[in-house]
Amino acid sequence: MGLKLFNTLSRSIQEFAPLDSSGKKVGMYCCGPTVYDFAHIGNWRTFVFGDLVRRYLEFKDFHVTHVMNITDVEDKIIRRVRETKTSLREFTGKFEAAFLDDLQTLGCRLPHQMPRATEHIPEIISLIEKLIQRGVAYRAADGSVYFSIEKYRGCGCNYGQLLKLNFDEMRAGERVKSDEYAKESVADFALWKARAPEDGDVFWPSPFGEGRPGWHIECSAMSMKILGASFDLHLGGEDLIFPHHEDEIAQSEGATGRPFVKHWLHGAHLLVEGNKMSKSLGNFFTLRDLLAKGFTGREVRYLLLSAHYRETFNFTLDGLTGAKTALARIDECVGKLREIAGTPGTVPARAVGVQASACSADTLKRELQPAETVLGVPLIVNFTGALDDDLNISAAWAVVFDWVRDMNRRLAENSLSAADTESALTDWDKIDSVLGIGAKSDAEVPAEILALAEARTAAKQAKDFKRADAIRGELKAGGWAIEDTPKGPKLKKV
Ligand code: AMP
Ligand code: ZN
Repeated sequence: MGLKLFNTLSRSIQEFAPLDSSGKKVGMYCCGPTVYDFAHIGNWRTFVFGDLVRRYLEFKDFHVTHVMNITDVEDKIIRRVRETKTSLREFTGKFEAAFLDDLQTLGCRLPHQMPRATEHIPEIISLIEKLIQRGVAYRAADGSVYFSIEKYRGCGCNYGQLLKLNFDEMRAGERVKSDEYAKESVADFALWKARAPEDGDVFWPSPFGEGRPGWHIECSAMSMKILGASFDLHLGGEDLIFPHHEDEIAQSEGATGRPFVKHWLHGAHLLVEGNKMSKSLGNFFTLRDLLAKGFTGREVRYLLLSAHYRETFNFTLDGLTGAKTALARIDECVGKLREIAGTPGTVPARAVGVQASACSADTLKRELQPAETVLGVPLIVNFTGALDDDLNISAAWAVVFDWVRDMNRRLAENSLSAADTESALTDWDKIDSVLGIGAKSDAEVPAEILALAEARTAAKQAKDFKRADAIRGELKAGGWAIEDTPKGPKLKKV
């Protein structure tokens, strides 16, 4: 079965087929962050969703070119630059760096290209010139350039492809200069904003006079420069459907006369404890806020990936605690499989000192009963079936947890052969190339706990069992259990 995705353009679930004649290359553009503050977990839901789409396409052997822009000039940024009395680059550079750090903390693959709007001013200007030449954009008395919805529609083009608009209520020629507006105030929108005193130093020369680009034209210019006039996938949060994406379609198709994007994917919003996030409600979290509360990037990633992308997701701190437990179940199972296979586990034995007398992984494998049966749960097939169905991630997690249960049962029965274990781990690694949760890292075991574990190993080797027991007690008091396994001692959080 092929991948099926909901396309906002057709309002239906469609088979995903790239434009490329070989059917292999995929161009994917995700609207990136507006770098005027740290990204919040709502933003992260959308970016992690984009990462899932990219990873799944790669899992299915597509050659993806993943582009994510950095919006580093728009209304909100200019306001903050003015308020903070900094330069544009100094201000946006700080939040751009934080965004890249967070992207890594959440286990997202780095997009192949991350163009900045401020580095594409010539491309933006030439796109606007093309729209003026084609008669669908005009320069207003204040020097700003607007996109004419009436002229565009007059050429037989369709404004309102992603959502239905009521043009009877629209007054021709009305203009909106702000980047964000509701569909009730649909009007000619700004492509180029004439320099205003409040813009300070943020302006560029252009054939239409000094000024700066509107937000919507930035994405049309950067996406088409890198991916061509027509490309496969365009993603963003549902709030971008109108006006941002509708305007991107109008600008791009108005300039090239060709269909802009084949599949539009929109992620539903995230609420916190049932409410829209807002600083005044005290329910506004950045990733950094959650890390400061002791959660890890992979726990946040797991939670953000736990619901279907088209469903509103209710984020709670309890949910995040639940994510910790769910990941611990996976870690424990995969850790045991790795132990048998002799590949590094959750907390490598090296970190706590391997005893010379510990039996080797090979001995352990030989001791296991060779299982003749094929593994019970067809992990890859079921996982793929779930994600092919419009990225049904809840069904995919159910497949993962069924597999964990099955593996745990087989581990308890000692009925996994070495070959079974290897093949289970190969499957898991393939699955995790999509989920991106990875393994719990050593860094999550505090240094003082590792030091205690090493001291215990030394005490045992010196046959000072009293001291070794005392250290076990200290570890327990610190919330860690230590278990002696054939491969050496293993730490586990209790
Ligand atoms: P921005 O940095 O404001 O341009 O937003 C970056 C991305 O986050 C866009 O794709 C938005 O649609 C998305 N976004 C904003 N708020 C939320 C939210 N509460 N839940 C999910 N996505 C959001
Ligand atoms: Zn965009």
